[in-house]
Amino acid sequence: MLILDGKIASLHVKEKLKAQTDSLVKSGLRAPHLAAIIVGNNGASETYVASKIKNCEEVGFASTLIRFSEDVSENDLLSKIKELNNDDAIDGILVQLPLPKHITEQKVIETIDPAKDVDGFHPVNAGKLVLGLPSFLPATPYGIMLMLEYFNIPAKGKHAVVIGRSNIVGRPMSILLSSNSKFGNATVTLCHSHTPNLKEICLQADILVAALGRPGFVTADMVKDGAVVIDVGITRVEDSTAKKGFRIKGDVQYNEVALKASAITPVPGGVGLMTIAGLLTNTMQAYQNRIKP
Ligand code: NAD
Repeated sequence: MLILDGKIASLHVKEKLKAQTDSLVKSGLRAPHLAAIIVGNNGASETYVASKIKNCEEVGFASTLIRFSEDVSENDLLSKIKELNNDDAIDGILVQLPLPKHITEQKVIETIDPAKDVDGFHPVNAGKLVLGLPSFLPATPYGIMLMLEYFNIPAKGKHAVVIGRSNIVGRPMSILLSSNSKFGNATVTLCHSHTPNLKEICLQADILVAALGRPGFVTADMVKDGAVVIDVGITRVEDSTAKKGFRIKGDVQYNEVALKASAITPVPGGVGLMTIAGLLTNTMQAYQNRIKP
């Protein structure tokens, strides 16, 4: 059984980006620049954004963190995004989700210039993804594709089952796995909360992607012998014995499923790290698109 170690695969991506950045800077150009906006002080969001900024530093990117308090008005947030859209020194913009209830997430997503939308959430990029046109891919499914590529796990001709149909993970994942591309060409079944016989469908999966946000949902009796299992779930579960008072749990019962799988991602240390690799790769792409003469 192969552990799909996100540390190793993301390091490979980051080393390539660092080498590219170093050579850009050596040739007198500026480094790619990511702007991240965080609203309020949600603990998980703070952790994600801090990690994204730290990873920018590791590959030599410039980064700017913009903080707003929980009660910022939607208008002020949108104005800031427009300012960043018009700032030539900024290549990529991300707004950490979720946002407070008084702010409409879709409006925020649609205000980001699609050319700087390194999270790949803008309808223009989502539409291009569906049509197979070059676009910014949502960072998590992109990271998973980078992981399949790194570990040389082609999906071609296989049956991939994706659990979860969110716009940021499950649905784009199903599109990428079914796309006519080097690590695509799978036959994909997309399951969701209204799917009957989920267990029977999962048992047919050569590649099973769990992205539903229910800790430990996928058990060994749902997994075919030799399947590749990708666990996207990240849920904070209370644990008084843990230093922080919680533990991160995935959507898969790792210990029992690992005994049946041919390859499996750990949580933490799997898909989360690849999400950052996807984001950084998009930021480099945004930079390259923008500095083209
Ligand atoms: P979401 O809540 O937007 O979507 C969950 C999906 O799961 C829905 O489409 C729903 O239909 C489906 N679902 C829920 N219960 C189900 C059930 N019993 N049977 C079948 N389908 C069911 O969540 P999301 O934003 O896609 O995130 C999913 C998980 O992935 C969460 O744990 C989230 O924290 C995690 N996540 C991880 C990363 C990462 O980098 N590793 C990135 C994004 C999200």
